[in-house]
Amino acid sequence: MRRVALVTGASRGIGRGIALELAREGWDVCVNYIQHQEAAESTVRDIQALGQNAVAMQADVADGEAVAKMVSQAAAELAPISLLVNNAGIAGQMQFQDISDEQWNRYLAVNLSGARNTIRAVLPHMLTEKSGCIINISSIWGLRGASCEAAYACTKAALIGLTRSLALELAPSQIRVNCVAPGVIETDMLEALGDEVKAMLVEQTPLGRLGTPEDIAYAVAFLASKRASFITGQVLGAEGGFIV
Ligand code: NAP
Repeated sequence: MRRVALVTGASRGIGRGIALELAREGWDVCVNYIQHQEAAESTVRDIQALGQNAVAMQADVADGEAVAKMVSQAAAELAPISLLVNNAGIAGQMQFQDISDEQWNRYLAVNLSGARNTIRAVLPHMLTEKSGCIINISSIWGLRGASCEAAYACTKAALIGLTRSLALELAPSQIRVNCVAPGVIETDMLEALGDEVKAMLVEQTPLGRLGTPEDIAYAVAFLASKRASFITGQVLGAEGGFIV
């Protein structure tokens, strides 16, 4: 039987790394993106080259209707989704008093309500099957707090609350819900920080380097695998010892 994963924000960065690693583990993948269609199609081609099925689907995760459509289209083109990875996210640096209402609401809509929208859309199938796996991508900043990233850090902390609550609520249906909290990972998201800040973050990372998308993909693939079948409600740090 084909196993299908939905990875949000899989056109680039960590999401792309997760989608490829899941394909290596035998998953077909729905590759979600918002803007970069060519990048998403390139992820799809790389998955197909690994011998798995894949489709690219545009949807803003903040738009519940668009997400519901994407999930039913993925079921029609591949098969119903049994693994959901909530990876799509936005970040930015700004002092707390300078964040506009619009910016604040957009962080909540994408980083937190986005996860609610996808989970709501995939749950009916998982509940019927009494099986499924949900993995939310949080952040070390959601565990620790982050100066000049209050909105981002709040949403990432909230994802941990969502993970633990749903793990309890969905356990009777054998649906596992876990979280991965990446450290500082070399992707486009880091570009705005500049080389000096990046070097400082490397210094603060005991393993002495930035993480790669693959570092996070391995943690996600583990939590999605049967080796993690007794693990739910957990936050797995993949962060080089940043928070010890
Ligand atoms: P990235 O390089 O900026 O990539 C973001 C991805 O999310 C892209 O695929 C983008 O699609 C997609 N996306 C953004 N907004 C979306 C929306 N509203 N709907 C659907 N897709 C959307 O980011 P990244 O560094 O890989 O981060 C991935 C996740 O890891 C995020 O949740 C981030 O908070 C978390 N994280 C990252 C780090 C880090 O150091 N990089 C650390 C901790 C946690 P398009 O290509 O179409 O724009």
